[in-house]
Amino acid sequence: MARVLITGGAGFLGSHLCDRFIAEGNEVICMDNLITGSTDNIAHLLGNPNFKFIHHDVTNYIYISGDLDYILHFASPASPIDYLKLPIQTLKVGSLGTHNTLGLAKAKNARFLLASTSETYGDPAIHPQPESYWGNVNPVGFRGVYDEAKRFAEAMTMAYHRYHNVETRIVRIFNTYGPRMRLVDGRAIPNFITQALRNEPVTVYGNGQQTRSVCYVDDLVEGLYRLLLSNEVEPVNIGNPDELTMYDLAKEIIELTNSKSEIIHEELPSDDPKVRQPDITKAKNLLNWEPKINRLEGLKTTIEDFRKRLQY
Ligand code: UDP
Repeated sequence: MARVLITGGAGFLGSHLCDRFIAEGNEVICMDNLITGSTDNIAHLLGNPNFKFIHHDVTNYIYISGDLDYILHFASPASPIDYLKLPIQTLKVGSLGTHNTLGLAKAKNARFLLASTSETYGDPAIHPQPESYWGNVNPVGFRGVYDEAKRFAEAMTMAYHRYHNVETRIVRIFNTYGPRMRLVDGRAIPNFITQALRNEPVTVYGNGQQTRSVCYVDDLVEGLYRLLLSNEVEPVNIGNPDELTMYDLAKEIIELTNSKSEIIHEELPSDDPKVRQPDITKAKNLLNWEPKINRLEGLKTTIEDFRKRLQY
């Protein structure tokens, strides 16, 4: 039985990770300041003796009594509308929060996993994106607060590995979706599902020809779990290469929900990446991992979860 700290544990990915580590028989300490996470995501775990929630902002000094085996640093706003509203918090959790959690990993001799992002590649000039690509990021654009915080976090993680011998892992997470995403989250899939279920206009930004590649949350969690237990220190992409345009994604969600919604076009946010697809060769070879859940199946499960929460 391992003792695991998950920062951002009340968020979308964090709460699915809490579930996985509890299911594997571990003790989980979930830490979150709840600025974008919610206790609704972990309500089902609160009575479990192996689970503990600590309401804390990891940009401040972190105190945990006893040993820790693993620290998974998942705290951060992750939707573009959140970075716009919370730019300083986004920069602080990626920088100060990463420094504090790495310091804790060093003190506890714990293995550290950093949740990094495909945003480290920015608006990519190479397609699909392998881990060896250094990216094309605008540091002063509105996404810069997230992209640069995560790039700094990767550099800090490698520094703690190289200079303090902390056991570290870095995952670059590509667009992921599934149950528990906020109903009004700002990202494409939750926006489209909520709008379609309410028969409201579905908002496609720009001409909708920009692409993303979408991964169901259970596949992502399996990849993260394998990476944590592997020996790989350099970053590893985890995502699903299943790429499509945002226009096609909107159409598909309208069909799957039997919605009367129409597609409307709104202004494309600045620095919106035109394409994105993970090259997952490394994860396949190293972790013997690849996504298993196809988009239709994943979207149907997600739509059911939204339907329940919206009471449609
Ligand atoms: N998008 C959209 N309509 C929405 C929300 C997002 O067309 O209501 C587009 C957005 O401009 C981007 C893509 O969908 O091109 C994915 O956006 P998301 O916020 O999900 O994540 P990103 O990959 O940009 O971080």
